[in-house]
Amino acid sequence: MINFIQNIINEDKKTDKYEDRVHTRFPPEPNGYLHIGHAKSICLNFGIAIANGGLCNLRFDDTNPSKEDTEYVDSIKKDVKWLGFDWDDRLFYASDYFEKMYDYAVQLIKKGKAYVCELTPQEIREHRGTLTQPGRESPFRNRSIEENLELFEQMRVGTFPDGSRVLRAKIDMASPNINMRDPVLYRIIKAAHHRTGDKWCIYPMYDFAHPISDSIEGITHSICTLEFEDHRPLYDWLLNCLEIFHPQQIEFARLNITNTLMSKRLLRQLVEEGHVQGWNDPRMPTISGLRRRGYTPEAIRDFCERIGVAKSNSVVDISLLEHCIREDLNAKAPRVMAVLRPIKVIIDNYPEDKVEWLEAENNSQLPEMGTRQLPFSREIYIEDEDFMEEPTKKYFRLSPGNEVRLKHAYIIKCERVIKDESTGKILEIHCTYDPNTRSGDDTSGKKVKGTIHWLSVQHAMPAEVRLYDYLLLDDQDEEKEGENEERDEADSFIANLNPKSLVKLTNSVVEPSLADGEKGSGYQFLRQGYFCVDIQDTSGEKIVFNRVVSLRDTWAKIEKANKS
Ligand code: ATP
Ligand code: MG
Repeated sequence: MINFIQNIINEDKKTDKYEDRVHTRFPPEPNGYLHIGHAKSICLNFGIAIANGGLCNLRFDDTNPSKEDTEYVDSIKKDVKWLGFDWDDRLFYASDYFEKMYDYAVQLIKKGKAYVCELTPQEIREHRGTLTQPGRESPFRNRSIEENLELFEQMRVGTFPDGSRVLRAKIDMASPNINMRDPVLYRIIKAAHHRTGDKWCIYPMYDFAHPISDSIEGITHSICTLEFEDHRPLYDWLLNCLEIFHPQQIEFARLNITNTLMSKRLLRQLVEEGHVQGWNDPRMPTISGLRRRGYTPEAIRDFCERIGVAKSNSVVDISLLEHCIREDLNAKAPRVMAVLRPIKVIIDNYPEDKVEWLEAENNSQLPEMGTRQLPFSREIYIEDEDFMEEPTKKYFRLSPGNEVRLKHAYIIKCERVIKDESTGKILEIHCTYDPNTRSGDDTSGKKVKGTIHWLSVQHAMPAEVRLYDYLLLDDQDEEKEGENEERDEADSFIANLNPKSLVKLTNSVVEPSLADGEKGSGYQFLRQGYFCVDIQDTSGEKIVFNRVVSLRDTWAKIEKANKS
């Protein structure tokens, strides 16, 4: 993997900046489940470490007790492992460093670089200024070191109520970078923390906790997304003031994908408001959702590799992600028959009690995957849409008087249809078969234009099949800031949800060989797409399949169009 980050590392190796060490970290906040954007960060951080013989830590950035939970911690660990990465014994929590962070804050106060401020959050905002106007200094800015030490200690022991005081860095209220206008370092939150309990009632801000955690762990390259570019001066300022080990922060563009929400906050809203089944709903862009949908770690890693690492934001077409899982399953998945919307065909000249076991290859492109035996009998199911009573011009599938080949079996001819008198609905199709046309030893010399899939009625296994479409109807900009806009955005994205994102087919049938299909295993249903056995809703009574992706490769088309 050669990208601009690797170039920086190569340069650092030359100048011996970190004594040839490469140490990265993946620092999620445990306030939701990981999504595909996090997968990019995971692949990047662990990938860079592996490529350079270095190390990568998993660190929970658990500095906000009100939103965090151990459920999220557990899911994150599971997802990183599933993606194929290993932090060995380097699992850390920012909360492990609270005591040290407190000491560092005290050091800053002692150096005259931090003060306790009693402005309300609203007043702090008002004093901050704007992009065009400098901020104003807090009236509490010039307190003595002794007074600050005393007040900070009081904050720690719980003397003051939530929101009444903060610790701020003393930098420059006129800085053109708003992040440098005396940013808040500590706030009072009287809430139990999922790991430290009630030990603390002051919690460090991300901008304070992050550089210190990186420094404590000896991180060399602290890779984060572009939003933090303007925070880098603060990152550097803190480490310089404290005179401790100084990692290099490097920013890269976050992943955005068309038709895809990429924010834990919005994903949580979908879960909490019941728009989806849960964090692992197969329509969710979470890693757990993709896993349940039938994506493989290989496909996700391949996707992250292909999109590369850039310094400016862009949106990746979702068809590339789909292309990656298609490629992976194409080379692995057995190809089987499933009839999603069955209609019954009776082969009038086939003996009533006869069952023939026909040989079918498991993957026509991979002979080493072997063959299986497929039962054929007088009554079969075919796909609803593979029959047309009044065929259109280019319709080569089954229609009255016409012949088609049944995959791995015989050529049949449609003789007549039986309909429900009152509704006109087709109940069954009567056909005849030609015994000389058996696949593999066809002596008839017949040529037909259509081949369709089918299943023997008495052997077919009932299944529920779930077809998915995108959760979002079309694209919208999720990169908005500010409270009012946030509200608007929340409403507009709910209005933009696709009402047809899930279609459940409850009358489908699949090959009997799929009875042994393990939960999560992937198949190609011939002519239908890639499917996997749902890990959650499949039980002894019911087998449920998720459609992972259809067979049509829109990415290949985009690529082709770009080339020509
Ligand atoms: P969200 O906005 O979805 O909550 P976040 O950045 O707040 O994401 P964190 O838990 O703080 O979530 O993220 C952990 C790491 O993953 C960070 O280093 C962050 O930069 C990275 N990350 C998050 N989203 C993306 C994305 N879309 N593309 C690449 N990296 C991402
Ligand atoms: Mg975050």
